[in-house]
Amino acid sequence: MKKIDLHCHTYAPQENSSRCLKEDAERISPEEQIEIFDKLNVEKGVILPLITAKHPDGLAAVENCRYIADKYPDRFSWFCNIDPRAEGFDEKTDLGEYFGRYKELGAKGVGEITTPLYADSPLMDNLFHHCARCDMPALIHIGTTPQENYGIVDEKGLPRIEKMLKKHKNLRIIGHSAAFWCEISENGYPEDRNDYPKGKVSDGRLAFLFREYENLYCDLSAGSGSNAMMRDREYAAKFLTEFADRIYYGTDMTGKSQKFPYVFDDFLTSLLTDKMISDVVYEKIVYKNAAKLLGIQG
Ligand SMILES: [Zn+2]
Repeated sequence: MKKIDLHCHTYAPQENSSRCLKEDAERISPEEQIEIFDKLNVEKGVILPLITAKHPDGLAAVENCRYIADKYPDRFSWFCNIDPRAEGFDEKTDLGEYFGRYKELGAKGVGEITTPLYADSPLMDNLFHHCARCDMPALIHIGTTPQENYGIVDEKGLPRIEKMLKKHKNLRIIGHSAAFWCEISENGYPEDRNDYPKGKVSDGRLAFLFREYENLYCDLSAGSGSNAMMRDREYAAKFLTEFADRIYYGTDMTGKSQKFPYVFDDFLTSLLTDKMISDVVYEKIVYKNAAKLLGIQG
């Protein structure tokens, strides 16, 4: 079964580009990303721009993601991104003008949203409103404090995200990050929010929010998503089965020597071969849900 990776980051220098990048031997080029995809049986990946202050211009600019997807249309799609703090923007700015234009150019969603603002702040509220209006899913990285400067901010239990899910019923929020996945279990500690907690899971806020709000989705990418599944095999099978229509496979590799996607791939396959999840559930998570989001007929 082919997969779609809903969460990848790759960078290609563009011709005639004035962008200056620090050399980084770990950075994954599109060609290297395609080799990785072939090993993981990934047909296509969605490139997510990263545009906060922590990621200077050019590292993952929207234009660069589009450039790569246009160069390799069979292997990549892309999301657009906007920092709602940009100069001249306020909580009334019609971000739909930007999202609409990006959509015309081929963007399939918005994210990875990492702006260090409270999730229900007026600027974020406006951004979510326009994502919903333009029917663009919003893929979010949740952080724990504004000072962290990476990730939209919410407290333990994700009350602000819940407020946004309730207010913007047509907004598809795709959750991601350690602070998101720590909520899979009720017995977590505050310090787990930036960590990879281990141990058995008992239904936490995530199951509650998924049951309550049909507009909540998630991706299984990064150490955070894979850890949340691998820490408790039985619970993972239950979670993946119950919410199979709203879970996307993803890797979030940021360095070419990272090994966790291969380990997680083996884990997912083992759930299938051990009959802990069905073929139908597996196919939805690794391919069909994302194919629907990207408009791939299949
Ligand atoms: Zn990411």
